Order: sequence, then C-alpha cells, then structure tokens
Amino acid sequence: MTKINSKQQVGAFQLLLKCFNRRQATIMSAQVNKDNVDDVGLAEYPKAQRENGVFILPWSGRLTGMLSAMKWFMTSPNNSNVPGNTLSRFYTFDNQELDQTLPVLKPVKKTLESPPADNVQVTWMGHATVLVQMDGLNILTDPVFNDYCGVARMIGVKRYRPVPCTVDDLPDIDAVCISHNHYDHLDYTSVCALNKRFGNKIHWFVPMGLRQWMRDSGCKNVIELEWWEEHSHPKFTEESKAVKFCFTPAQHWCRRGINDTNKVLWGSWSVIGPRNRFFFAGDTGYHQIFKQIGRRYGPFDLAAIPIGAYEPRGLMQFQHVNPEEAVDIHEDVKSNFSLGVHWGTFNLSYEHYLDPPKALSGRLLKLGISDKEFHTIKHGETKVITKDDTKTAQERRNAVVFETST
Ligand SMILES: [Zn+2]
Ligand SMILES: [Zn+2]
Repeated sequence: MTKINSKQQVGAFQLLLKCFNRRQATIMSAQVNKDNVDDVGLAEYPKAQRENGVFILPWSGRLTGMLSAMKWFMTSPNNSNVPGNTLSRFYTFDNQELDQTLPVLKPVKKTLESPPADNVQVTWMGHATVLVQMDGLNILTDPVFNDYCGVARMIGVKRYRPVPCTVDDLPDIDAVCISHNHYDHLDYTSVCALNKRFGNKIHWFVPMGLRQWMRDSGCKNVIELEWWEEHSHPKFTEESKAVKFCFTPAQHWCRRGINDTNKVLWGSWSVIGPRNRFFFAGDTGYHQIFKQIGRRYGPFDLAAIPIGAYEPRGLMQFQHVNPEEAVDIHEDVKSNFSLGVHWGTFNLSYEHYLDPPKALSGRLLKLGISDKEFHTIKHGETKVITKDDTKTAQERRNAVVFETST
C-alpha cells in the first residue's frame, strides 16, 4: 500500500480546501468553430462562449475533477520543501534560510516614482503581482499585498516570502489588470487598500462577469471586457499617446465561492502603448491560442509569464504551464523579454519551491535561447527593459525568418 508522508498530507489538506470550493469537476468542454479556422484548426480570435451564465472554453480542455484531483495529490510525491513548512509547523517558515534562497528587496521609492520615459520598468511584488511602468502609465497586475491568499486567514495559504512593499509605498497607480478571480490573483484586502489610497485615479481592467464584485468592493472605474475586446486608458486622449488594454485568452477557469464556477471569465492582458507593449499571461495552461495573441499584438517588449505551480502534472497541466511551456508562450506571443512569475511566494503545488527558475534555465539552454530573453528577478527587484535586453530575441527571430525565406 502506498504510504502517505507528512508533506503529502500538507498538500492534501491544501487541496481539500481548494476542492471544497471547487465542488465538482468544471464543465469545460468545447466545440471549435470550423467556419474560420487557422493553421492549428482553431477558430481565428475565438471568444469564450457563455451558457446558462457559465463561460466555456472555445476549444477542448477539461479541468481534472475533484476525486481525480484528490487522487493526484494523495499519491504524488510532494517535493515542495519550503524551509520550515512541515505538518507539525503547518504555517511556519524558516525565514533565515528563505532570506538566503529567496531574498526580498524593498523597492526604491525614488526609482518607482521616476521611471524612464521611453523604456518599460518592471518591479516584481511576488507571485503574479507586477508593477509595470510604461508610456506614462503605472500598471499593476493581479495585486496581492496580503500575507495570505484565500477565503480567510485561518484557512488561506500563507505567503512564505513577505510582500516587498505595501500599497502605501507604491507610486500613483493608473491601471490595474485582473486576470481572473482566484484568491491568489484577486485579493479583497488589497483591492480595498488600493481604493483607499488612489480612489478614482485607478481604472480597473477586469474580465467579463467581475464588474459587480469590483463595484461591491468600492471600485469606481471598472472596465469589463470579453476576449479580444480593447479599451484605451482615458489618461491620454490623443491618438498618438493612447495606451490600449486588450483582454486576450488564456486556458484556465474561475471560482471564488460556492456555486460560482466559471461565472466570471479568465484571460490574459495585452497592453499596447505608442512606444512599448506588455503582455500579462495571468494564470494559464498551454494552448496554441498564444500564437494568435502574438500575431495580433506581438512582438512584446515585456511579458510576465507564469512558471510555477505545475506539479502534480496530471492535475495541473490544464490550468498551469510548466517552465517548458512558459518558453512556448514566450515564443508564441513573440516576447522580446519575459519575466517568470507565479512562483516563490505561495506554496500551491508539489514541485520543489526553487525548481521553476532552474527548469526555465534548463529549457532555454536546451533550445539554444539565451537566458537574457527570459529569466526571473528577486522579490521587490526593479528592472528597466533596455534595447540591450530585447535585441537578443529580435536578432534570433530575424535570423530564423531570414533562414526560412532563403
Ligand atoms: Zn487561477
Ligand atoms: Zn494562480
């Protein structure tokens, strides 16, 4: 009989909490519209369908059901090994060791308040929260500044690396992009703190179905979009300065409470400015749809792509890419520089907590792609994306085009 060790019990307990909310297998099945298909047999720019108030992927794909998910978590080895995180000390962490392996930097206020005029400046706040400063806008993705994610502190997942700064330390935020409503991406406390500090200055770009929740949380300017819909930020009315927020697809799902599975859409964001382009992949499994995003909005100067929470693979594959697939997204959307996110913050899965960046480097090495194109930065670290950062990818892609055209 298979023995279950304490780490698996921890994982199984975390999964039980998730599954309690999930209740049943998500109803994700799909029919491809054959009328207008691209080279991979996928409809061009497909929209998620809505049936009886529930969004359905426009391609085949299914989230693992609860019983099967339980089986995966109970029988797979849990290699996460976050220091100090054992069953007997469920939510304590060895901060001394973590300070060595995953140091957290305090962002420099002056740097955040004076980003370069022409380039993109990015600061990683942990997990999927990224501050992107470009084309005169300060943009936050999936803001979680809380020390846990979940319904309540007692049953939520605690951060094992602290948030690098508070909402009070941020520069003026013009826009927030929300990818979907899972607790590790949409945190009520953080939304309230942002509203309290910035109020009407923020425009909230959210997936279809989330507007009421945002309004109930005190957000005033809420722009709710379906896949492929676009909306320009009102800060710049001149055409030459306009920054367009485009909600683009991803392969994922939504659930926040009881009986609300997929009543809110999920997706990625393509932010198109006059000088720079930013892609935020949100939370996603791999799908060919990213090629369409690349064709329509690429190339991007910066992409924030998830690289963590991918084991056990049989359970996670539908909803979370592994680092190998993250590189495929980097290629598909034509990103000239990608930042690996969605790792190193919340213990959500079974891969070793330091594996995502290692597996990313390994994949890039195998493909002969420089890690200058796609890497991670420290929690709280700020990076300016310069022409030097983006030229490697540009030259590589141009060389491929040249080779194939001769
Ligand atoms: Zn999610
Ligand atoms: Zn997530």
